[in-house]
Amino acid sequence: LKQEWDRLKDEPSVTKDGKHVELAANIGTPKDLEGVNSNGGEAVGLYRTEFLYMDSSELPSEDDQYEAYKKVLEGMGERPVVVRTMDIGGDKELPYLELPKEMNPFLGYRAIRVSLDQDGIFRTQLRALLRASVHGTLRIMFPMIATLPEFREAKAILEEEKAKLIEEGTAVSDSIQVGIMIEIPAAAVLADQFAKEVDFFSIGTNDLIQYTMAADRMNERVSYLYQPYNPSILRLIKGVIDAAHNEGKWAGMCGEMAGDQIAVPLLVGLGLDEFSMSATSILKTRSLLKTLDSNKMKELSAKALSECSTSEEVVDLVNQYLA
Ligand code: PEP
Ligand code: MG
Repeated sequence: LKQEWDRLKDEPSVTKDGKHVELAANIGTPKDLEGVNSNGGEAVGLYRTEFLYMDSSELPSEDDQYEAYKKVLEGMGERPVVVRTMDIGGDKELPYLELPKEMNPFLGYRAIRVSLDQDGIFRTQLRALLRASVHGTLRIMFPMIATLPEFREAKAILEEEKAKLIEEGTAVSDSIQVGIMIEIPAAAVLADQFAKEVDFFSIGTNDLIQYTMAADRMNERVSYLYQPYNPSILRLIKGVIDAAHNEGKWAGMCGEMAGDQIAVPLLVGLGLDEFSMSATSILKTRSLLKTLDSNKMKELSAKALSECSTSEEVVDLVNQYLA
């Protein structure tokens, strides 16, 4: 098995019948690139930049951030890097920001909500990203988008900073894709409207599942409700992928579900374009893909959506298929 995986490191990620999907990695720091390369990652599908803020005793400067982003972009060469702007709040605290104690932190002041409210911090991050953009293939992604006006405001701030940099004579790439995470049900339901304005979606199932099922992702007492294979989740995912494709955009996934061996056949069947997971899951997934037929997976996911009413039924169906 180890030998097979070693061989797969430099091979494309294709199904038995030759359909390609992109297998990307989630990273938290530039150091993680080593694992991406040793596991044959085709892209970075999620760079969680909040660690830059959490591993520091004060706000990281524009130059510090620029160096980190540059390192990742250069380390990936031509391969794309999706950088997510900071997702502080919720379960991630930041002592020096003095975020308020809240009754429901996961429903509160976090991620893009903080960035739009304290836009000085946001602008610093965007400037660092824009400056780094000339060193590789940068894609910028906003977390926890619930409404279109939030996306438009974030994008407008990005455009303002870009214009300022260009005026100052700083080089900025002119091909940066700008997308959003789909991790709030409202955005999933309205994906057809979002798809007209964004360049891509990345489905954040870690949060999308907790918000859809109303089950805190950290609370063991309700973990039985945290159901990636619940048909309601699969329907939301299908809607998001279809909405993207209808507008000629791509849809990826960067939640844990993207590297889950039961979920992968369903997601390929639904047409997901990019799977971003912990680097250590990439070769296992590439190996699984090679054994599966894309038309069969399409049938499988259609059947799961039309016939299954519970998570258990979906799992049984996939297991039958895999056997
Ligand atoms: C997600 O919500 O699925 C996700 C990838 O983001 P995080 O786990 O960082 O909240
Ligand atoms: Mg999330």
